[in-house]
Amino acid sequence: MFHRIRRRRTDQVIIAIQQQAGITAWLAVQVPPVDSCQPTAADMGPATGPTATADDFLPPDLRVPSHDQLEGRMMPRPQPLVIEDEVVVCAECGEYRDWLILSTRAEIWLRCRAGHQQVEPRLDTAWYNRAAGPADATHASFEDCLRHLGH
Ligand SMILES: [Zn+2]
Repeated sequence: MFHRIRRRRTDQVIIAIQQQAGITAWLAVQVPPVDSCQPTAADMGPATGPTATADDFLPPDLRVPSHDQLEGRMMPRPQPLVIEDEVVVCAECGEYRDWLILSTRAEIWLRCRAGHQQVEPRLDTAWYNRAAGPADATHASFEDCLRHLGH
């Protein structure tokens, strides 16, 4: 019985984390739109079978950009971030909450409300992927993404 209660509590914690991370945004800076990445018929050479000319993939507006098309991802973190029993503090202004957590080029950056950014080497992309929910939007620029998240 205790196991069941413990498991239920763990599930609730995971759901709470997913809900809180639900407003994840992706940013695609200086990345060609999905359409221009698709090989053209000329690139593919002469048609060799029915699949060579079939265009039955999802319409462009329903496609999700792949990792190599994204410059990075970010998610809000309103509450303090504790790593190794230490509350992370902005090195410039001392703020300790209301972060944006950015995952870009295999690094994790923290951005405070004042716009100061610092790399957080104790976190990695795997941590980000566990903590973040699915992306709810893709933006053409870093600034658009910041605006989307109210920064
Ligand atoms: Zn700051």
